[in-house]
Amino acid sequence: MFEIVNLKKTYVPKKGVPVEALKGIDLKFEDRGLVFILGRSGSGKSTLLHLMGGLDSITEGEVILNGVSTKNFKPADYDRYRSLYLGFVFQDYNLLSELTVEDNIALGLEVAGKKTENIEETLALVGLEGMGKRKPRELSGGQRQRVAIARAIAKDPGIILADEPTGALDEETGEAVLRLLKELSKEKLIIVVTHDRDFAREYGDRVIELSDGRVVSDTQKLA
Ligand code: ADP
Ligand code: MG
Repeated sequence: MFEIVNLKKTYVPKKGVPVEALKGIDLKFEDRGLVFILGRSGSGKSTLLHLMGGLDSITEGEVILNGVSTKNFKPADYDRYRSLYLGFVFQDYNLLSELTVEDNIALGLEVAGKKTENIEETLALVGLEGMGKRKPRELSGGQRQRVAIARAIAKDPGIILADEPTGALDEETGEAVLRLLKELSKEKLIIVVTHDRDFAREYGDRVIELSDGRVVSDTQKLA
């Protein structure tokens, strides 16, 4: 169980007024399934994902994974939390351009202290068999995003957090990426930020909508 309790985030810029990006969010997630987070630009989606993933500091509230709160985490605890339990997928892929596909994936595994032998298997899982020696620039956008997904799943985390993973892809490629995430969600919790309502309705087991830093709807699809 992954749980967030009364989560708040206020950004305090050096100049200008503080921004209350999250105003108290409470959510509980099962251990598997495909959950979409919808909302307009600026509604707090990325902030929520970053806080859940331990990528930015929490102003108030808690993130609790399997009964353990991150509340008193030190930086090293956060490193462990991120590398062992979470995989991240971003809109712009965040691949290292100088490294081959397999080295990009291996890097994440080494950080997590996991074996790097099964990279080819992981590539096959995302439909990229045989492409391990290529550099990211030798791949299409959809293929790069699948490398990013391979990197996220290679260390076998229980949770994958994806921030607009189809944002830079054409519709068809985006759908292929979502079908892949759907498949993975049979065994993992996959939380995807998007502003594509149709995709969310079609593929999501649950759709949560944010507006102005609050949850305004939370709809579970009947099994
Ligand atoms: P979304 O992903 O839904 O578009 P964000 O979570 O990125 O929304 O942003 C929520 C609000 O917080 C917006 O008003 C945005 O301008 C503000 N914000 C996001 N990041 C920062 C930051 N680093 N410093 C100041 N304000 C920020
Ligand atoms: Mg965003």
